[in-house]
Amino acid sequence: MTPTIADIRAAPLRRPEVLGRPRASTASWDPWGLMHPLSNDRAFAGQAARFAPPWGEVVCVATASDGTFGVGMTSQAGPITPVINDFFAPMLAGEPALATEKLWNMMARSANSAFGASGLASFAVGAVDLALWDLKGKILGVPVYELIGGPARDRTRCYATGNDLDDLRDRGFDSFKLACGVGSGAATAGIEETERLVSDARSELGPDADIMLDCWPVLDASYAVRLGEAMQPYRLTWIEDYAQPDDWPGYADVRRRLPSVMLAAGERWYTDRAFAHAAGQRLVDVVQPDIQWVGGATAVLKIAAIAAAAGIELALHGGCNDSYGQHLCHGLPGNRWAEMFVGCGPGESLMGAWRSTPGMAVPTDGRLVPSDAPGFGIDLNRDQLDAAIS
Ligand SMILES: [Mg+2]
Repeated sequence: MTPTIADIRAAPLRRPEVLGRPRASTASWDPWGLMHPLSNDRAFAGQAARFAPPWGEVVCVATASDGTFGVGMTSQAGPITPVINDFFAPMLAGEPALATEKLWNMMARSANSAFGASGLASFAVGAVDLALWDLKGKILGVPVYELIGGPARDRTRCYATGNDLDDLRDRGFDSFKLACGVGSGAATAGIEETERLVSDARSELGPDADIMLDCWPVLDASYAVRLGEAMQPYRLTWIEDYAQPDDWPGYADVRRRLPSVMLAAGERWYTDRAFAHAAGQRLVDVVQPDIQWVGGATAVLKIAAIAAAAGIELALHGGCNDSYGQHLCHGLPGNRWAEMFVGCGPGESLMGAWRSTPGMAVPTDGRLVPSDAPGFGIDLNRDQLDAAIS
């Protein structure tokens, strides 16, 4: 008999050390420390904490009528915990537990009508959807990358995001994404500083290494164009997140004025509809949904189909940093790269790199082979889950 959904329950992650993460780690760059949403105004320099939401991660557990459970995670626990527990959980109770497409559609359409399906709502949909895919894999006894039609390859190539190139190379990576550390408020001096960062990296890594530049989505379009022109001699693989997330005219402007630069964006676009718009207008060459933020695995599968049909590359944001992204990266032919954001210092385990999930694989020689355990292979029992949220 097909199992049904017995219970869906979300709670804030209170003890991340239960997930095997170190209590504190040091990154070679801290995105919020360098850039924040007001980085276009020098008056707000050094005030990143003022603009960061105070909420941590949420753990969502979906339990089926046969007792099997799946685990989903995302951030923004404060506002999305009641969205899951009070709105989605009673809506989905008693539905077929394997019907991920139907269940995603119920959540997305009802949220869209009530308060919008993007933004915070897409985090809530994502946590439930990831728990349901984990549950489905466990019930069927197969890893998620097989459920979605993979594996697409033997090993998935990774790139490391960070500015400590010596450490990243010591860890075996051969492709790198640098963090632009100054926003539009720094004007010409900012462009010169970023040019030094990229020029030094190109000299150090040689002519053939893949180097990307992440500008965080806080620049103004005209600044992004000047920056992109200054980067041309260094042959970047792509420039990423150069405009504010909803600045659609800005993305079109940058596309038109930098026709030969590879452009990537999408970690802060929410739901498949933003990606359908970007692909339809051909605003970027690479789309980068974040599986935890965009609405889960079901949303990523829709975006993968949109990107493939439009001839646009897919590269999941933080795709190597948790089990969820790893399985989608490894299962989708259109996803050439898995990003590992190295949010830990030299010598520290990549399991502490950022939002790691217990049981996930870490890349070796810059290549990833995910866990082949059922579901997303998240190695947590009920007692550990209870400890993590109590
Ligand atoms: Mg990025």
